[in-house]
Amino acid sequence: AKKYVVKNHFRGLPKREDFEVVEFDLPPLENGEILVKTEWISVDPYVQVHNPFHPVPYDQHSFQVGTVQDSKNPNYPIGSKVVSYKGWCDYSIIDNFENGTDGFDFGRVYKLQDVKDLPVELFVGTLGMTGVTAYCGLLEICQPRAGETVVVTGAAGAVGSIVGQIAKVKGCRVVGFAGSDEKVQWLENELGFDKAINYKTADLRKSLKKAAPNGVDCYFDNVGGEISSVIIAQMNKYGRVAVCGSISAYNDDPEKLPKATILQPYIIFNELRIEGLTVNRWSNPDRWPKAIADLSEWIRGGKIQARNHVTEGFDKLFDALIGVLTGDNFGKAVVKV
Ligand code: NDP
Repeated sequence: AKKYVVKNHFRGLPKREDFEVVEFDLPPLENGEILVKTEWISVDPYVQVHNPFHPVPYDQHSFQVGTVQDSKNPNYPIGSKVVSYKGWCDYSIIDNFENGTDGFDFGRVYKLQDVKDLPVELFVGTLGMTGVTAYCGLLEICQPRAGETVVVTGAAGAVGSIVGQIAKVKGCRVVGFAGSDEKVQWLENELGFDKAINYKTADLRKSLKKAAPNGVDCYFDNVGGEISSVIIAQMNKYGRVAVCGSISAYNDDPEKLPKATILQPYIIFNELRIEGLTVNRWSNPDRWPKAIADLSEWIRGGKIQARNHVTEGFDKLFDALIGVLTGDNFGKAVVKV
């Protein structure tokens, strides 16, 4: 079998030489274990192994969907499709199961059931970790009400594109920030955003004022940095902020004190609620399956479009990662092995 390992710790954009593909032998299956051939791998921005908050090397972590090739576990016969968190490898042996439920706990595996009408690759994206992040982060932390204005950054990405569409399902006015005119057009014309803004070319403050004339009630923050300060400064009384990602700052030197705009007066006088999240908090049998069930229904009903940005080939994983970090992807970046 083959897997990627991180050879050099890197800061900023990784280089090809920072990764190495190594071959390794898989031992014979023990009782209870299954051998899985990887078919789809999730490509996510949380790669900065140097980041003290996120010491996550890719050779160990990342969601994938695969097919059982050999089995010593009667619950997972040959041919079953499973979701696991086995990282960037083409084969894996799995021995850690979520015993028959569709609930999810990081590090475990679960079988895909009753989803014959939906593409399996969605289970590393909209019907997996990034979809649950969008669903639970928006609905539980921002708690948007119909008629309110929801702003999302990273709006054309895996999480952001779903956040905006769920907010539309809930009857909100939705404004998204993304990094190109093509993404802006996709958000407005295909996904139903009320307004999308190219953060690389627009005057952020003025364009947001125009797009959200009644102020911002909910902000789903995928990128952090100055753009977030601009948005928080235009929030209404009792506004709610879900802080999900800070991709604009993942490469900052962790030894230095972070830069901060003075936002306290806005937070105090508008009585804002700002809450960080990691999706792990919802990886339990109550929350994860409910999110996936609702998202599946919305996809089936045409209320949500789940676009995958597909790169073909195990040997293209590195290129796909660079694509995510530099904004190539529309929707969820995945690699078809
Ligand atoms: P995306 O699919 O959104 O891909 C990343 C996108 O970020 C790129 O396409 C690019 O789009 C944008 N981007 C890159 N650099 C910058 C920058 N300097 N400023 C603004 N935007 C930038 O990724 P995900 O949807 O998977 O993740 C979105 C965010 O949520 C990330 O920060 C991620 O780490 C975080 N996350 C957090 C989770 C949690 O549990 N807290 C779970 C999952 C994701 P563009 O062209 O618009 O610049």
